[in-house]
Amino acid sequence: MTPTHPNPAPDHMRALVLATARTLRPDADITATTALDQLGLDSLDRLALAVDIEHTTGFALPDAVLADATTLDDLVTHLTHSAPRPTAHARRTDDTAPSTEPVPDPGGRNGDRDRDTDPWHTHRDRLAADTTAGTGFDGPGRADPGSLVGDGSRLWHQAQVATGARIGADCVVGKGAYIGTGSVLGDRVKIGNHASVFGARVADAVMICPGALLLEDAAARATTPDGRRKGPDDFDRTPVTVESGATVGAGAVVAPGVRIGRHAMVALGAVVAHDVPDHALVAGNPARPCGWACACGHTLDADLVCPHCARAHRHRGTGLTEVTPRE
Ligand SMILES: [Zn+2]
Repeated sequence: MTPTHPNPAPDHMRALVLATARTLRPDADITATTALDQLGLDSLDRLALAVDIEHTTGFALPDAVLADATTLDDLVTHLTHSAPRPTAHARRTDDTAPSTEPVPDPGGRNGDRDRDTDPWHTHRDRLAADTTAGTGFDGPGRADPGSLVGDGSRLWHQAQVATGARIGADCVVGKGAYIGTGSVLGDRVKIGNHASVFGARVADAVMICPGALLLEDAAARATTPDGRRKGPDDFDRTPVTVESGATVGAGAVVAPGVRIGRHAMVALGAVVAHDVPDHALVAGNPARPCGWACACGHTLDADLVCPHCARAHRHRGTGLTEVTPRE
């Protein structure tokens, strides 16, 4: 297909993609032919890379391209030869859930058809223009212009996915829950009723229970010292990271910048101010380790074996890892 839009030269596009990848993996020796698997990029990392590349280049990377790419050059090839097109799987729900709230319009030009044919407007503007595309998700909740919600995901009543947030496939966002700008959620994530996720990176199969808070502003003030009210760009975002399979209990509060490890379990009402190791069970205020949790959610015995499903574990780093039958 002949592109209908001007595309950057391959060398220029390759430089942009390489610079973006090196930001994500600053310690790795990355070239255009480096295998993505060699960089240890899991599905969430790939998603984060795609978001950054889209932001940098102004071109969309469809999920299928992302899934099939072996090297960064595969991404460069796509970006160089394809015109910008709607990033898949997002739609607005304003038609099914009328709201009296003003609709965010980051570019201030929603509905401007000229902009839809301009490959160089910003990623954020382009998403704002594209969010009527696709039929990816279901439910009466609201996905703001410029957000993306994956296939099969469901947004319940009064749930809101803010501009610039991105959610994977087959997720559930409960009644009244809020997914803030910059948040990136993987697949099969469950967000409980009235939970709030501010800019967090949340991996696949994570459970955020009702009323939990994932915070991102470590120096929260309403105004600058000279009294000017702060806006969205007036604070340093230090988002929470929640690794795959972890659970954040009901009403728990997670401080900015904290990492919750794989299959970790944060007890209800905990106030988490420090990183939580893989499989750790933490509780209280401030939250402290008080045991180990299995992938199935039950607490391990003294031998690190799950009394419910018999999975065995051993220490690795500060946390645990599951022992495979071969070990
Ligand atoms: Zn178990």
